[in-house]
Amino acid sequence: MCIELCHNHINASSFSHRSPSSYIYLSIYETQPHISLSHSICILFLLVQNKVTTELIKKREEKNLLLSSVLMAGLNFEAEYGDSHNILKALSDEGVEFLLSCDERKVPLSECNGKIICLFFSANWCRPCRGFIPHLVELYDTLRKRGISLEIIFVSFDREEGGFNEHLKSMPWLAVPFDVNLHRRLIDRYRVDRIPSFIPLCSDDDITVEDLIGCIEDYGANAFPFTRKRHEELKAVDKMKREEANLEELLAQEGCNFLISGDDIKVPVSELTDKTIGLYFSAYWSPPCRSFTIQLTDVYNNLNAAKSSHYFEIVLISTDRDLKEFNINRSSMPWLAIPYEDRKRHDLCRIFDIKGIPALVLIGPDGKVISENGKFMVSSYGADAYPFTESRIRDLEAALRKQGETLPQQVEDIKHEHVLKLDMAKAYVCDSCKKQGKFWAFSCDVCDYDLHPSCVEKLHKD
Ligand SMILES: [Zn+2]
Ligand SMILES: [Zn+2]
Repeated sequence: MCIELCHNHINASSFSHRSPSSYIYLSIYETQPHISLSHSICILFLLVQNKVTTELIKKREEKNLLLSSVLMAGLNFEAEYGDSHNILKALSDEGVEFLLSCDERKVPLSECNGKIICLFFSANWCRPCRGFIPHLVELYDTLRKRGISLEIIFVSFDREEGGFNEHLKSMPWLAVPFDVNLHRRLIDRYRVDRIPSFIPLCSDDDITVEDLIGCIEDYGANAFPFTRKRHEELKAVDKMKREEANLEELLAQEGCNFLISGDDIKVPVSELTDKTIGLYFSAYWSPPCRSFTIQLTDVYNNLNAAKSSHYFEIVLISTDRDLKEFNINRSSMPWLAIPYEDRKRHDLCRIFDIKGIPALVLIGPDGKVISENGKFMVSSYGADAYPFTESRIRDLEAALRKQGETLPQQVEDIKHEHVLKLDMAKAYVCDSCKKQGKFWAFSCDVCDYDLHPSCVEKLHKD
């Protein structure tokens, strides 16, 4: 972490727009006695992933405190070296003189002196472990680039030396040399009952193993210093982004403030301001996504053809499994996409808590989220749902109710032998005119028969 302390007080006015700089200048207010550093110093942070813009910081006093404390949390790394020291002593007591690196180098234990040590319990045969390692590699590289003196020591659950060696190849950190009994004693000492387990020895925080693994998967290096408080703070920033951030804060980040068009042209995020935007979470492997893409394309073309100016834009946030699928996926879409290699894809899924795809989050021309349920709006009302506001949906629903009130509860139609009942259907095909219908229909309870209300030919008795 790049931290510079200087003794000049920098006041709030120097929070001015410094983007695209990756530095955020924070002054510590004298109103924040809980911060252990002396007053009137300025802290300069290099935030690699989460750009928290100065605008957000300025917004409200309470936010101000929150955000600065979020950034502060990264400073607590001088915390406890005690446990880090203890593990080195314990290893040395066990007769371990060196640790192993992935290139089979023997690294003397003493090289870890003074470092923040984290233990990583894992096994080659364990699929979740293999899935977690790339997250941990990214964290390890990023934190070390930030100048944090961190070392991870791998303790193996493998029973075979072959598996241990194979596993170690995927790790840029160090390992306790293979010895089943020694590893077993370490596992017992730290009461590890599941893998992957990541145990930072820099604090005795009570964050659970599952939460910490999830926190690292979600936030990468920003999870440091791996405390429950840190996790809560990161979640609070996500919440703020979801509820209050504008489009640029959501989509533009350090070094990656553009989207790509179908023909691979870079489009700056700033070009999207003043438009209604749909953030479309989708993957090619998902059949429901492929069919919703067709509906959404219809709405997109419809809305953009209706007005002379291009005023509704969609951004694909792909959850495709690889670049090839991503390219196939977006080849069917006339709109923009976040580049596949951009970590924001992952961040936006987390910020909007995307549990299933397809999902569509709609953002208004003012840059604020209008609805996280755009899929329902588009699949129910198509282009009529525009501008996707709650009041628009209420109007559409009221019009539908009104239409329903004018229709009889049931009818007898000359084309069908059974009584047809008034029904509400999301989509059906009319058995008379063979055209698509939605909402009100007259349907048969006995067989699969539906009619548009307008296609009913009443059987007049007497
Ligand atoms: Zn019909
Ligand atoms: Zn029938």
